[in-house]
Amino acid sequence: MNEQENTTEKKVSSLQSTTVLAKNKKEIYSVTGNELLGSIPLMTKKEVEAAMNEASLQQKTWAKVEVYKRAQVLHAWADELLKNKEELAVTISKEVGKGISSAQKEVDRTADLIRYTAEEGVRLHGDMMKGDAFPGGTTDKIAMIGREPLGVVLAISPFNYPVNLAASKVAPALITGNAVVFKPATQGSLSGLLMIKALLNTNLPKGVVQAVTGKGSEIGDFLVTHPKVNMISFTGGTATGQAIAEKAKMIPLVLELGGKDPAIVLEDADLDLTAKNIVGGAFSYSGQRCTAIKRVLVQEEVADALTLKIKEQIEALSIGTPEEDADITALIDEQSADFVQSLIDDALSKGASLVTGNKREENLIYPTLLDHVTADMDLAWEEPFGPVLPIIRVKNETEAVELANASEYGLQASIFTKNVEKAMKLGAELEVGSVQLNAKTERGPDHFPFIGVKNSGLGVQGVRRSIESMTRDKVFVLNF
Ligand code: NAP
Repeated sequence: MNEQENTTEKKVSSLQSTTVLAKNKKEIYSVTGNELLGSIPLMTKKEVEAAMNEASLQQKTWAKVEVYKRAQVLHAWADELLKNKEELAVTISKEVGKGISSAQKEVDRTADLIRYTAEEGVRLHGDMMKGDAFPGGTTDKIAMIGREPLGVVLAISPFNYPVNLAASKVAPALITGNAVVFKPATQGSLSGLLMIKALLNTNLPKGVVQAVTGKGSEIGDFLVTHPKVNMISFTGGTATGQAIAEKAKMIPLVLELGGKDPAIVLEDADLDLTAKNIVGGAFSYSGQRCTAIKRVLVQEEVADALTLKIKEQIEALSIGTPEEDADITALIDEQSADFVQSLIDDALSKGASLVTGNKREENLIYPTLLDHVTADMDLAWEEPFGPVLPIIRVKNETEAVELANASEYGLQASIFTKNVEKAMKLGAELEVGSVQLNAKTERGPDHFPFIGVKNSGLGVQGVRRSIESMTRDKVFVLNF
């Protein structure tokens, strides 16, 4: 065993709150460079069971800790994350192949999110209702409505924001007095475990947060059907989310799933601003974002001019490694790159025209723009989760809305036009959680509600909404 493995093993064992240690391990390599970053335990069902039982036990005590003290733990966690920012950022960058400056921003953003959650959590108040407001009611009844934690929150996060999208579940769960069983994406586990290590360096009582590692395909069903789980907060692919929704019975779910966010470009749009936002929205982190712009629906009158501007900006993107802070880097794995390539090949075989790109070096897909994409091509509908953008020409705004709504997804949409009134009207017709006017689709700021409709999700995130989703009403009726 080399020195690095030894160090990671120590890190991992110090994170395990349960007494049993997994014998099987999985080595985690960097996305580019094939560098061994460490290993994670492939936990058995017995070990997951122990984690669940411990979380459930400790939750009872944690729920009784004063909320201002729980907030202090969260503030201390944010401090710890920032103290370890460089180590975290380098781990994120290598483990999920993200440019180093984006990885640093992810740590900063996470610390801000945790602090905001602490501040919002201490202001969670109940309600009071008088009985005589309802016909036949009486002044002799008063209801006092408080908010209660749900119990054990199972937090399952994806690879692409291994720290931010994990903390956005763990922090609201903790501030409201829930315990957490946290299952990071396997490729992303080292970053997630470092984030939890920072949390365990605070005064958080032992056992309230349990990290469980192992392949979702192996321990996922056991986790989501476990009787001690009282709520599931999941972010990841639509197929995984749907499978979880089918199995988890009678417990609240918040699901943040895939997207096919359209940029609708009307003939009066500012094309420079539009092209800049489309390229930023579609290609940052090589398109591996749920809210990446994944199709352009542009009115024919301005399609040629817009395509040219987008092409110029794509060709100015840097292509390289996360360490070089390149705009476009290798995708998370070979399967993902194969899928993106298959979408490009399918579109080209059916008559789409290549504007730029369609070059591949192992898992690195060069940023690719395809014009004249039509409804019979998979790229018009599938979420590539990679750096390829289809341009779909439309006759008018009605056709744009029809195509936008024909998607199974409904995360966000952008509308580019100088006519704000028209944008509001079109926006009202779009079956999505959020509409962006004259800007790219994106999550955040993190206190905004974040919603996916149709196959893009269930429930609402965003700090306040996440807090609410992890609590329930409890009513005391005073009869006098
Ligand atoms: P994924 O393959 O669905 O994995 C997400 C998480 O689910 C991972 O922790 C994974 O663990 C786990 N998992 C896999 N099978 C499971 C099962 N049967 N039961 C329980 N958990 C299971 O997604 P991903 O590739 O990491 O992320 C990309 C997807 O996430 C894209 O579709 C993207 O749009 C979506 N996403 C959505 C949002 C949003 O806010 N709407 C944000 C980010 C990403 P393993 O890694 O061990 O398999």
